Amino acid sequence: MPYMKNLPSHLQEKYSTFCVLPWIHLSTRPNGHLRVCCTANASSAGKTNKKKFGGEVGILKNDDGKPANLNHTDLLSGWNNNYMKSVRHQMLNNEVPPSCVKCFKEELAGHRSKRIWETEYWQSRVNLDELIADTKEDGSVPPKLYYVDLRLGTKCNLKCIMCSPHDSSMWVSDWKKLYPEIESAPLKKLMVWDNHGKVDGATYNWHKDNPQFWSQLYDQIPHMKQLYFAGGESTIIEEHYELLQECIDRGYASQIVLRYNSNGIEMPDRLYDLWQHFKRVRFHFSIDSIGSMNDYIRHPSAWSSIEKQLRKLDNTDDHIEVTIACAVQMLNMFYIPDFIKWKLKQNYKKINPWPLGAGMINYHFVYHPAHLNVKVFPENFKKKIVKKYEEFYDWLKENFRDDEEFLENTYGIKRLKGMVSFMNSEDWSNRMPEFYEYIVKMDKIRNTDFKSTFPEMIELLEPQSL
Ligand code: SF4
Repeated sequence: MPYMKNLPSHLQEKYSTFCVLPWIHLSTRPNGHLRVCCTANASSAGKTNKKKFGGEVGILKNDDGKPANLNHTDLLSGWNNNYMKSVRHQMLNNEVPPSCVKCFKEELAGHRSKRIWETEYWQSRVNLDELIADTKEDGSVPPKLYYVDLRLGTKCNLKCIMCSPHDSSMWVSDWKKLYPEIESAPLKKLMVWDNHGKVDGATYNWHKDNPQFWSQLYDQIPHMKQLYFAGGESTIIEEHYELLQECIDRGYASQIVLRYNSNGIEMPDRLYDLWQHFKRVRFHFSIDSIGSMNDYIRHPSAWSSIEKQLRKLDNTDDHIEVTIACAVQMLNMFYIPDFIKWKLKQNYKKINPWPLGAGMINYHFVYHPAHLNVKVFPENFKKKIVKKYEEFYDWLKENFRDDEEFLENTYGIKRLKGMVSFMNSEDWSNRMPEFYEYIVKMDKIRNTDFKSTFPEMIELLEPQSL
């Protein structure tokens, strides 16, 4: 494990492809599919052609090759099914499991993969030697889950431009209007919503009327150290509140860290009341730009209410940690320097305090849909972005920080430079016609106006960009 600086050397030498997650964690998709972790099944992870692990990479498969879905597979059978056993077995034999290629590719490119940061994070919270020693020859382990990533269906109160009905119930009506109108074949393929999500036993209400799932999950509460909620929108999903209450009632909330990726649109008082009982709350607030640009991207949010929620969160107790999680794609890449300047001007006390996001904001890439990936920008526009970012690095040094600690922080200027390199790493501008068709049609459906919202990007809708 060459990049895991903090791990004991005896582990690093023996198990070069080890990751802690298959020993402590399971993740769900909003449709009830179980997956090894969210990175294993990320849209950017690609497909694996190996029949044994075929189809969508990172989704747990039952022995018939079909996805292990919580509508028909119980949580604990999934935990020790042949797919999971094989992942562990491969890791203990210094092999890279097909579900984990994304992490290893990232490491080869010099990035800190989820495998690395999660294993480093968990090594002081669980006993890695014990986990390995308790693993049977076939890769099965005791039924103890320490960390789950729950996507309880698709109920959401936004329909972000880069999202889809796979993740947001609000998207359904727009999809019904958009899909029949799509002319471009690649765009049509990308926007497929097979049988309205009902494939391989999947449904978006898998968590309703599923007493076996809830009883097995509740039985895990004594082991639980982290609960992570993302997608749909957990703050409007009743079962999320019920789970928090159950942790409190059973007396284990104070040992559990809650982690969220949330749009922060609805944050009722009862949420803050429940949070008081937990060890720590790490709230990643999904905000992608400022003002009307954010309203356009995270449609139909209202910037004034986002600002209010930020102020409220900025005045919460110390055990609540807040960061801005920005999903980087074509509609905000150019404006990220403006977003950071705005954020710094707010002088928040605890929104991305140093060193989180280097005191600025946090970013992750939107890989899907491909027509919004930053690699799609035409060359000329990429040059404009490069120039703006380079000027911004100087601005940051003059107006924010220019000390070594900041300049060396991996989430500061280094991260911005990495985003630019990612954008420039491939030319996907052949997808510009798809971008054009998508934006024009979505504007019509939503009564939005790309050109007046993003005036600096008007040229992307001109014929010379296509
Ligand atoms: S190696 Fe990466 S993809 Fe595999 S389980 Fe660990 S974090 Fe997930």
